[in-house]
Amino acid sequence: MNKAKRTEIFSRLREANPNPTTELNYSNPFELLIAVILSAQATDVGVNKATAKLFPVANTPESILALGVEGLKSYIKTIGLFNSKAENVIKTCRMLIEKHDGEVPDNRKDLEALPGVGRKTANVVLNTAFGQPAMAVDTHIFRVSNRTGIAPGKNVLEVEQRLMRLVPKEFLMDAHHWLILHGRYTCVARKPRCGACIIEDLCEFKEKNDYQ
Ligand code: SF4
Repeated sequence: MNKAKRTEIFSRLREANPNPTTELNYSNPFELLIAVILSAQATDVGVNKATAKLFPVANTPESILALGVEGLKSYIKTIGLFNSKAENVIKTCRMLIEKHDGEVPDNRKDLEALPGVGRKTANVVLNTAFGQPAMAVDTHIFRVSNRTGIAPGKNVLEVEQRLMRLVPKEFLMDAHHWLILHGRYTCVARKPRCGACIIEDLCEFKEKNDYQ
């Protein structure tokens, strides 16, 4: 795919949704970090339901740590993998207090050192909480990048690095939100809705359909 096409694709995605953001509910970097840790292999809707009860009671490293693993589990038990997530969140809270004065670090190295925080989670926090250009490549971004030809790659890291190199600068900050939302609602896994897709004429997917 050439640069002009990529620019046009992101121009249209931006026009349709000028201020995209995550669908996870949060009100500060710490809440976002916890929500993203909880969201691995779970839906944003499911995480939002749990955090709507958790955050009014505990939304600081100190207060979540005070809940303890079992106390925290009672709030997040509707979320997949809640046992290991509870352990990780408690360990992360402890580490934030001991090493970062209770603050969420704004750099990749320190973020990835937190239990339960991988490259994708770090990218979401860097981008969404701290306004740094970063691509948190999930299953949706991976699929859309490959199908459309925007940034094809064999694995998520390859797609992430290509996107960082190929997405025009003016779109870098918000690109990952546009791609996630496009993958979640239009370019869905089984039957992409090419008939309703605003970038259909630019997309290089060989098996387009008419589904709306
Ligand atoms: S045309 Fe189809 S395959 Fe291409 S981006 Fe749109 S929905 Fe996805």
